[in-house]
Amino acid sequence: MVAIRILIVEDEPKMASLLKRGLERDAYAVDVVTNGADAIWAAREWPYDCVILDVGIPPPDGFSVARELREEGNWVPILLLTVRDSVEYRVRGLDAGADDYLTKPFAFDELHARVRALLRRKPAPRPGVLQCGDLQLDRAAHSVSRGDFPIELSPREFALLEFLLTHKGEVVTRTEIMDHVWDFEFDGTSNVIDVYIRYLRAKIDRPFGIESIETVRGVGYRLNDADSNGTPS
Ligand code: CA
Repeated sequence: MVAIRILIVEDEPKMASLLKRGLERDAYAVDVVTNGADAIWAAREWPYDCVILDVGIPPPDGFSVARELREEGNWVPILLLTVRDSVEYRVRGLDAGADDYLTKPFAFDELHARVRALLRRKPAPRPGVLQCGDLQLDRAAHSVSRGDFPIELSPREFALLEFLLTHKGEVVTRTEIMDHVWDFEFDGTSNVIDVYIRYLRAKIDRPFGIESIETVRGVGYRLNDADSNGTPS
């Protein structure tokens, strides 16, 4: 049996050896590097099954490492570790191409569960650019446009649109939106989603005289193909 090989990128020696010992106990083959440059080198050199990547490491930082690997077409599952817990941070990590996100301090069992879940997934290339009609969202550049017209979105609006785009043509429920876009600081009233849908419509649809975000009464929302002429009317 070929060993499952995991790369740990962590500059704190205590944390690194704790992670290494814990994962080796589960019979994984584990390598440790302590900075971003070595992480990129190691991930290029070896076909890892999973990378556990601390955000706060000597440069380049964890976000940049993830982005660099994805830009090279390396889709190894990446679990980001960070000490900051905020939606913006999470969105940044996922935009950079990480697959999952864990906030320090965490229970070791939780880390094991996340790693097992990532290993079950086959690494799949996810398009850097999502499209629906002439609406475009570029994950790497963190930009949105309709036709040639650039659209400014807040991080939350961006995350919401990204979620709708990955499910374009399908109905997504408010609960699904809540879980994927608001899981860290959702305030308990589903009204916030409707408010953000309204913000989004005002930016991606109304100026172009189209309606791409459909309200599915009693269920949720659906993003449909809708071509504008690419300039606000
Ligand atoms: Ca660190």
